[in-house]
Amino acid sequence: MLHPAFADHHVHLGLVDVSALPASGIGRVVDLGWSDDVVALASSAPVAASYAGRFLTAPGGYPGASRWAPPRCTSEVAEPRDAAAAVAHQVALGASVVKVTLNRDAGPVPDGSSLRAVVGAAADAGLPVVAHCQGPGMVELGLAGGIAAVAHTPWTHRLDDEVVAEAVEAGQAWVSTLDIHGYGTPSADRDRAVDNLARFHAAGGRVLYGTDLGNGPLPPTLNLREIGLLVDAGLSDDDLLAALTDPWPFADHGDGRTEVPDGPEPLVERLAHAHVVREGDR
Ligand SMILES: [Zn+2]
Repeated sequence: MLHPAFADHHVHLGLVDVSALPASGIGRVVDLGWSDDVVALASSAPVAASYAGRFLTAPGGYPGASRWAPPRCTSEVAEPRDAAAAVAHQVALGASVVKVTLNRDAGPVPDGSSLRAVVGAAADAGLPVVAHCQGPGMVELGLAGGIAAVAHTPWTHRLDDEVVAEAVEAGQAWVSTLDIHGYGTPSADRDRAVDNLARFHAAGGRVLYGTDLGNGPLPPTLNLREIGLLVDAGLSDDDLLAALTDPWPFADHGDGRTEVPDGPEPLVERLAHAHVVREGDR
């Protein structure tokens, strides 16, 4: 059966070779943070690629000091009046979404008013804001700031049901990235993330398939461990397909198509044979 192209809603093209993605069914990727080099990486990628551009963060904030981060990958927002220029830089790069880092475990984070100014400037440009939330109170800060999406299912804390309900009410989308916690080995972080996502999903939350491809030893394909963890979080076959085909950060699906073979086997087994249908094959 033909579906809109499957998307990995969280990758880093500068850290991974994505040439094997189409043969595994992934026809679209969203790069969630890099230097200005992402423009060239996206245009030469073997799949349709949209991107966030730089990470917006407080001066000295994550991931400026991370080993994997390229030079000049942050746009600093020290106070609300810095937001417009920081967002304008990403708009000039051709970004489809704005990425903010709220990682209190790794350095300073923008305060609430600066975050709201970023969300406002992005909205003026027609772009949603996605946040990396890590550490106590960061999901709550993101909610107060009006972010549209989180780049990872929250994993550092078990969220209160009220916070989960607020995220659903706000219409947030959560990019799953469950398999980065252990890469197949069970861990407390993974359990917390699956539990948070299960309650978000059960409450009607919008779940996006995404792996953080480029971060650690993930398979450079459709990740069947990620799919298995989404099943653990309670997603049905239809929910899985919705998470894979969600057009975010766009409103509409693109032209690409992914074929999943029909057959009596469960969907999760048939997904192992998914592939992108090339234009000439249709
Ligand atoms: Zn990432």
